[in-house]
Amino acid sequence: MIKLQNVGKRYERLNAVSEIDWSVREGEWWGIIGPNGSGKSTLLHLLSGVEMPTTGQLLLHDREMASYSRKELAQMVAVLQQEGLAPTDFTVREVLEMGRFPFQNWLGREREDAGPLLDRIIHRLELDRLESRRLDQLSGGQRQRAALGKVMAQQPAILLLDEPTTYLDIRYQLEFMNMVAEWRKESGITVISVLHDLNLAAQFCDQLLVLRDGKTAGQGLPSEVLTEDFIREVFRVDPALVMHPENGAPQVLLTANRGRPNE
Ligand code: ADP
Ligand code: MG
Repeated sequence: MIKLQNVGKRYERLNAVSEIDWSVREGEWWGIIGPNGSGKSTLLHLLSGVEMPTTGQLLLHDREMASYSRKELAQMVAVLQQEGLAPTDFTVREVLEMGRFPFQNWLGREREDAGPLLDRIIHRLELDRLESRRLDQLSGGQRQRAALGKVMAQQPAILLLDEPTTYLDIRYQLEFMNMVAEWRKESGITVISVLHDLNLAAQFCDQLLVLRDGKTAGQGLPSEVLTEDFIREVFRVDPALVMHPENGAPQVLLTANRGRPNE
């Protein structure tokens, strides 16, 4: 579905990402992890078509990314950021309607009424009581749920998430990830998410791509990638690794006063 061959993106003198070889198949959930500044957001910008690679080849359905129009891409790929929505005076329902823009003609009309679809999403995300509420009257967690509703309304084949749970407390983090997981199970959508939380990444993602200094440091199953040595090398902390007692996923524990391993 997505294929990158030797992809690089250069900003003036800096290679933000380079030499990326990576394939994503339909329906997979990939996590992109790596230290700050390792090129994770840049890679997502390339996948969403906001930025073009300076080297290499980036194919979406066997076609060069650059050959798609903005509208074609918006019908296929949806993006959700850390703070998915600014606290404006739009209502939750209005924001979900905006998710339908890529499918409207220049009169703002769609071939089919999107109303029932929006109703379903509102119900699914338990936004029923909030649908007429303005975004600036919601908590951060509720607003991020509305942001998820907007990208669901877009009915994309590919969902790109850039640290979507950063500002959420642990309950909302888990709730958000569970909602994405359910949506994926139902629709078969492909998910690519940049995640800071390695423990959530290990539980939700099928595969992980690890970036360091813009290059691939590793890729594979969480159980293959998340080893003590590898985390020490890439993130420069000295972790203890345990197995999740319920699902066996590798979980990373940090120890106070054991910041940096000896260099
Ligand atoms: P991450 O998301 O992993 O923290 P980024 O992809 O945001 O990393 O950034 C990777 C590197 O590219 C950083 O050194 C950053 O400063 C640089 N960078 C990102 N975007 C731009 C830009 N638009 N212009 C110049 N440099 C950029
Ligand atoms: Mg980033």
